[in-house]
Amino acid sequence: MDMKTLITGVAGFLGSALAARLLEEGHEVIGLDDLSTGKEEAIPEGIQFELGDMRDRPKLWALLQGVDCVYHLAAKVAVRESILYPREYNSTNVGGTVSVMEAMRDVGVKRVVFTSSGAVYGAQVAQPLHEEMVPAPDSPYAVSKLSAEYYVKTIGKLWGIETVTLRIFNAYGPGQHLPADHPPVIPYYLRQAVKGGSLVVHNSGVQTRDFVYLDDVISALVRAGEVSDVDGATINVGSGREVSILDLVKSVLEITGAETEAIYNHKASGGVSRMRADITRAELLLGYQPHFSLAEGLARTLELDPRFQSQE
Ligand code: NAD
Repeated sequence: MDMKTLITGVAGFLGSALAARLLEEGHEVIGLDDLSTGKEEAIPEGIQFELGDMRDRPKLWALLQGVDCVYHLAAKVAVRESILYPREYNSTNVGGTVSVMEAMRDVGVKRVVFTSSGAVYGAQVAQPLHEEMVPAPDSPYAVSKLSAEYYVKTIGKLWGIETVTLRIFNAYGPGQHLPADHPPVIPYYLRQAVKGGSLVVHNSGVQTRDFVYLDDVISALVRAGEVSDVDGATINVGSGREVSILDLVKSVLEITGAETEAIYNHKASGGVSRMRADITRAELLLGYQPHFSLAEGLARTLELDPRFQSQE
């Protein structure tokens, strides 16, 4: 059945790809973004785009009329920045989420899919990470996502709004933002390899992450808006595999054919030592199966993202 959907954060990396997929599947899409980090040119044609802040409730009341499902993605997402400006992360990620939930309550919207993060787990001894573990967030960003999770679930339960929380691990793919300061590791390595720069490895490089390709994340998001019997669920979305930064370097060099080298910054923190998502619940509740290996995902990113195609 076709749905009328609202995506917050529609100009972002995940939001713009989600909008494109929902349109392809015949759904109606309204998108909201304040363009604080999102790019207007990333928004696919065919959606109704509204420029604005998700904390503007009168705007939300107007946009939410007749909406069946809200995909709530808008957030500030830079972990290091959150350490410097925790108040802003609280205001946007927590305050913004509460505004969206309150406006949904006021208008009577049935379901929200909220994008939380694997970052809420923090450093855990046991792997893989499963949803029943006690979270140990270690940055204001992670705290803001966990706090927003609780608001989504609590307000949802009190007011009869169906909620699905996806804890997304390290997503990557074409269109991912590449800020000058602390860029995400995959687009940073691809750009360096293509342009002949060196690949800086933080610490020893044995730390692992669960990298999940964009199309797989989008499939999980779409399903989370469609399936029944998921109310209140928190669900990991990853690849289910862990890859060390050293192995990532190898794969990037293989796929790009670059002859550049890794250099080590032993003094830099490598972050938590291991991250691997247990994706059993996503398989059970969403019928989720990651389709892209790291090699396939890297190859597609290289092929589809114009920033990585030529040596400038
Ligand atoms: P992104 O920065 O590309 O997108 C976020 C969007 O939200 C941007 O377009 C930004 O302009 C918009 N925004 C920020 N504040 C806003 C406000 N007050 N009002 C309206 N719009 C606002 O980030 P992304 O990678 O696409 O992430 C999307 C969501 O997924 C976020 O909630 C993030 O926490 C979550 N997530 C992403 C990853 C990942 O690897 N990309 C991993 C875990 C969780």
